[in-house]
Amino acid sequence: MAWREVMCGGLRADDAGRRVTLAGWADTRRDHGGLVFIDLRDHTGKVQLVINPERAREAAEAAHKIRNEFVLQVTGEVVPRAPEAINPNLPTGQIEVQADELRILSRSAPLPFQLDEEGVDETLRLRYRWLDMRTERMQRNLRLNHDAIAAIRRVMDERGFVDVWTPSMTRGTPEGARDFLLPVRLQPGKFFALAQSPQLFKQLCMVGGIDRYYQIATCWRDEDLRADRQFEFRQLDYEMAFVEREDVLDVMEACVAGAFEAAGVEPPQRPFPRLAFADAMLRYGSDKPDLRFGMEIQDATDVTRDSEFGVFKNAPCVRYLVVPRTFSRTEQARLEELAKEWGAKGVANLTQITKFLSERELEVFGVEEGSTALFVADEEALVARVLGLLRLHLARELDLIDADLDVFHWVLDFPLFEASEEYGGWTFMHHPFTAPVAGEEDRIEADPAHTHGQHYDLIWNGWELGSGSIRIHQAEVQQAVFRVMGMGEEEQTDKFGFLLEALQMGAPPHGGFAMGIDRFIALLAREPDIRQVTAFPKIASGSDPLTGAPTPYPDVALRELGIRLLDPQPE
Ligand code: ASP
Repeated sequence: MAWREVMCGGLRADDAGRRVTLAGWADTRRDHGGLVFIDLRDHTGKVQLVINPERAREAAEAAHKIRNEFVLQVTGEVVPRAPEAINPNLPTGQIEVQADELRILSRSAPLPFQLDEEGVDETLRLRYRWLDMRTERMQRNLRLNHDAIAAIRRVMDERGFVDVWTPSMTRGTPEGARDFLLPVRLQPGKFFALAQSPQLFKQLCMVGGIDRYYQIATCWRDEDLRADRQFEFRQLDYEMAFVEREDVLDVMEACVAGAFEAAGVEPPQRPFPRLAFADAMLRYGSDKPDLRFGMEIQDATDVTRDSEFGVFKNAPCVRYLVVPRTFSRTEQARLEELAKEWGAKGVANLTQITKFLSERELEVFGVEEGSTALFVADEEALVARVLGLLRLHLARELDLIDADLDVFHWVLDFPLFEASEEYGGWTFMHHPFTAPVAGEEDRIEADPAHTHGQHYDLIWNGWELGSGSIRIHQAEVQQAVFRVMGMGEEEQTDKFGFLLEALQMGAPPHGGFAMGIDRFIALLAREPDIRQVTAFPKIASGSDPLTGAPTPYPDVALRELGIRLLDPQPE
């Protein structure tokens, strides 16, 4: 006999009279004057079992022993409930199953927390993830994860993309994070890096004539863990040959729409709006602005250049936010504190500096009764960043964000390079394989500050979902980019010789994109962080509470790998 013939959550009034076999977990047990009631649960829902000792003595005896989360197999008849016992809140609430056979398939020790308990510490939930997974929330999230990815795969398949597996163990890929290193027993002292992305392999697939590549690729980056970041995560990674930027963006938009439909949510309007990087920084102070609300940053520099007010006059850049409310002294002091934490000298409230400003300034900056203009004066990048953070902070505090909105948009027209704080000189904005805008190839070395890249980012409600670009497909251009980044001939050959060679043997023009699947699903599931949509995530310290990893290894094992620890092993 099958373990189960029907699922618990699927039984309805018109099943009355059927004899069924069910299997699942005991959600609750209640004894009522001899009768035993059990809510039996599987991932489709719950159904009420009734066991009557007069009709089924053995089953009733077994039922008395049942505790929460015992695993049961039950056979019995579906019967309508008495009118007063109907539960309109439960899809199966019209019926119950009169069980006459009941087998305990598995017992459960007392639980560290109840499945329906609120506010359970997250580390405890992760330590016992197999219990946590039985909750409606986790069932929904993991199944949504599956459905969205299945929909994305269908879109990619329909469009002729080929799923090619690329190695995890590779050379370091410059995606801007630290590599995870993997020692090699056969070659002590040497290390693989775990791929930060399949970037170069997918480009090599283009050179290899796979002109539509994709993969749901696991990527590893050694960065601090956050709401939207784990050490390992998955990307929808794809690459296309003989395409323009618009072709690449269109594929991504179709995937988003497909996943939304699979989740039963109205997809966002296509094509997604586009915003130039410079515009995003000017108006929102961020390259991943949240566009669910306005409150745009205003530039005041043209007016303040001739100001009598020293703070404005001497600042290379002055910008302000108009906030639809006023602030008490204490609130204003708190905003100033925040601005200082973010690196500004302060934030000025128009009402406090009125006496220093000219008529013209007051006319331009004047705000309606009940609103406040908040100014930051400093270097441009700092002003943008601080006002961008302030804009977000105030929108949250003042509840200006409509949580039901889904705003997708592209940020385009990035510079190819940015000044490198760490090394001085220039570093890449996206990664070193992004092509300059056509026609700007000669500018790369002559004027890196003003070379534009063909890079694009996808943003959803202020979360960066992913990035991509049209790539460099000519070795000379690639070498020019490497040189701007301070990489000599020898280092180029050592690190990227294979790429330069490939670019010299018939590389087609190509471009692609990668979207963080986990971030995408978390937002689709309306969850605040990616741990809630990841089956077995790590916590902020970088540990896995379930298995206890990472763990020390005995010295002999390390010696085999050519490794000796600087500090003695913890016990
Ligand atoms: N490899 C890039 C990343 O991981 C995406 C891309 O350029 O396609 O962000």
